[in-house]
Amino acid sequence: MGIREECGVFGVFGHAEAARLTYYGLYALQHRGQESAGIAASDGRGIVCHKGMGLVFEVFNRERIEALPGTSAIGHVRYSTTGRSHLVNAQPLCVTVRGTNLALAHNGNLVNAAAIRERLESVGSIFQTSLDTEVVAHLVAHRQSNGIEHAIVKSLNEVKGAYAFLFMTPERMFAARDPHGIRPLSMGKLGDAVVFSSETCAFDIIGAETVRDVRPGEMIVVDSDGYRSVYFDRPARSALCIFEYIYFARPDSNIEGVNVHAARKQMGKVLAQEHPADADLVTGVPDSSISAATGYAEEAGIPYEMGLVKNRYIGRTFIQPSEELRSFGVKVKLNALDKVVRGKRVVLVDDSIVRGTTIGHIVNLLQDAGAREVHLRVASPPYRFPCFYGIDTSTSGELIAASKTPEEITRVVRADSLGYLSIRGLVKALGRSEGSFCLSCFNGSYPVDIPAGAGKFILEGGTSCGEQV
Ligand code: SF4
Repeated sequence: MGIREECGVFGVFGHAEAARLTYYGLYALQHRGQESAGIAASDGRGIVCHKGMGLVFEVFNRERIEALPGTSAIGHVRYSTTGRSHLVNAQPLCVTVRGTNLALAHNGNLVNAAAIRERLESVGSIFQTSLDTEVVAHLVAHRQSNGIEHAIVKSLNEVKGAYAFLFMTPERMFAARDPHGIRPLSMGKLGDAVVFSSETCAFDIIGAETVRDVRPGEMIVVDSDGYRSVYFDRPARSALCIFEYIYFARPDSNIEGVNVHAARKQMGKVLAQEHPADADLVTGVPDSSISAATGYAEEAGIPYEMGLVKNRYIGRTFIQPSEELRSFGVKVKLNALDKVVRGKRVVLVDDSIVRGTTIGHIVNLLQDAGAREVHLRVASPPYRFPCFYGIDTSTSGELIAASKTPEEITRVVRADSLGYLSIRGLVKALGRSEGSFCLSCFNGSYPVDIPAGAGKFILEGGTSCGEQV
């Protein structure tokens, strides 16, 4: 817990209510980004776009959706991983390329965007945002002479990193996933309409059925004749972000055929096998750790209890407390049920530990509520290396496991014991080989090489003119 999600993309092609469906789809993907939201819609002639800072319900209302007519639409919810949180950096990015309207929505991070941008700027390209996504828009513009599909393929061949892209022109939609398949992207059907989403939970909300995942290195092209598959790159070693299963994705989503709740529950079971504890009850940090905690409890034969309650209504405007009032601030977000934990030996399950500060406060909450012992169990391995593929984990200096052993962390968070799920156990829980996933934040082995100086604000210093929140 403590990592910020990346972004979510959603698209509909061939439905009279495309923008409205996209709005509902973005609602289902809100957990992937709360800084800005946007929808671009097309009536087959041009593209109209609306985006703003804030949650989906803050950015859109009935009038704004009705002002987005047409049968195709793409949408985006954003948490900034490249570029600051400005309106100018909200997506979809809408541009005109040699007379053709083009909208782009991107989840992920392009690790060579800075080098490409420098090259393009040296030959006169002018950038409006500090988004890595804009680099792709410029590449498409430069390669337009053989048509938009060819231009997109050539552009994707140049960028490196993690991406799930949706491109929309007035006549077509393109959905592409990077050759390693680091970021997820699924395709569904709603009657004759084709839909795309970062997560399948968004299909459920609109009544669409899942067809399949977009494959690594694949681009699906949709037009009025239906859809077809194009491989713009040879699929590389599969490296799906394992954190989608651990924390990012909603439990009701299925990624590459595996349900996220079931995967987390299995992680909890393997964690109980690897790190048993003598305890009276098991509880999980709400919400993302509940599935793993129930798995732990089931495997250990210890009752699961609701030991912690989360306040779901902490908005972006919540005033962070001063140092003196810090414990008060933690209790606004999370509180312990003293009737449940008083005098008990508690197993506390968390999905991950990043900086260690939040979990230290939670252990303290349980102890203040009268827990006799708190045994911390983490349903993922020690998070030791930063992520460069679209997740905000800052630098390794801020990652507690990068510099401390589990024994030292136990003392820092003042738990009675600590056990992490092993990499082997994590992969076993998912029923696939280690080579199927990106595990870089655990083992430091990056599937796509990271250029020196890569980071969240590598493209800053440009012309951002939006509001900073
Ligand atoms: S480094 Fe970790 S968080 Fe980043 S893509 Fe890989 S598994 Fe996911």
